[in-house]
Amino acid sequence: MQRNLPYNDYRLKIYLTPPLDEALFFNYNLFMEVTPLVPHSFCYGVAKAIELAEKAIEENKGKKVYLIGNLVHNEIVMDSLKKKGLIAISEKENDLYEFLQTLPPQSVIVFSAHGHCESFDEIASNKKFKIYDATCSFVKENLSFIKDAVKKNENTIYIGKKGHIECEAALSISHQKVELIDKKSGVYPTFPCDEMVNVICQTTLSLEEINKAKDYINSHYHKHNFVAQRCLATEIRQRSIEKVDDSCDLIVILGSQTSNNSLELYELAVRLFGKNKKVIMALDKNELEKFDLGGYKKASLASGASTAPKTFDEAYKYLLSI
Ligand code: SF4
Repeated sequence: MQRNLPYNDYRLKIYLTPPLDEALFFNYNLFMEVTPLVPHSFCYGVAKAIELAEKAIEENKGKKVYLIGNLVHNEIVMDSLKKKGLIAISEKENDLYEFLQTLPPQSVIVFSAHGHCESFDEIASNKKFKIYDATCSFVKENLSFIKDAVKKNENTIYIGKKGHIECEAALSISHQKVELIDKKSGVYPTFPCDEMVNVICQTTLSLEEINKAKDYINSHYHKHNFVAQRCLATEIRQRSIEKVDDSCDLIVILGSQTSNNSLELYELAVRLFGKNKKVIMALDKNELEKFDLGGYKKASLASGASTAPKTFDEAYKYLLSI
């Protein structure tokens, strides 16, 4: 039967439950019990970014539409956008600045949800590119805080992941007034310890990571102004992992290895429950099938913010059938 349930519409901002009829059907069977953690599937920012990319294709038929950086960190979503005609230029394989310089004037470009370096705007304006900017409002808020601080000649320490496009966008605002702390990569700020520092973070970090960086900053800087804010989508998903039912013996995180918020969910689940529950991460149902999950009775299913609702549905139904 063809479904037309609202939860299958990714443009809705929060995905709450699986289809009720299927949940009831399977609960009467002796299969694995599966609890979808809410919210799941696309977050508001990702849904909007996809919508904007599709609009760019629609409004520029017959023209090349370039996606600068991965719009969202999920291979399935990216493949589907490429099939619709987007030319994706990944930040992993390309120097995006150099690539933009090679484009002819008035090219059509889509900027990713994670933000982009300041210098890209300069090229875009010089070459009169037609821009579709999918930068998420949470990312924009943090970037605009940094810009204001730089205008006031204040120092900002950015808690982030070295090389992540959102982090690079933040650091590009000023090489003198914005410095990174990424303890995992061994990167620390060099501002003099008697100077006041603002502290802000990448939107998709875990609270634990932020707190570790804060401890370092507290012990090295006398005057600081902490405004570090994760985005709401990241925060509530991490909270739902923290509340996983004691009786469950399996936690599944659906998401791409390239997605920071999915990886953070996985690492959080391992830290909290790794000793007494099996915790796995998979891109989709096909990857899930590679795990031997036969002995597990009760699963919690979570997803990162760039996992499509369809991917979530398929994984959910697969787990229910085990
Ligand atoms: S994960 Fe957060 S910052 Fe990233 S697109 Fe979604 S809402 Fe925006």
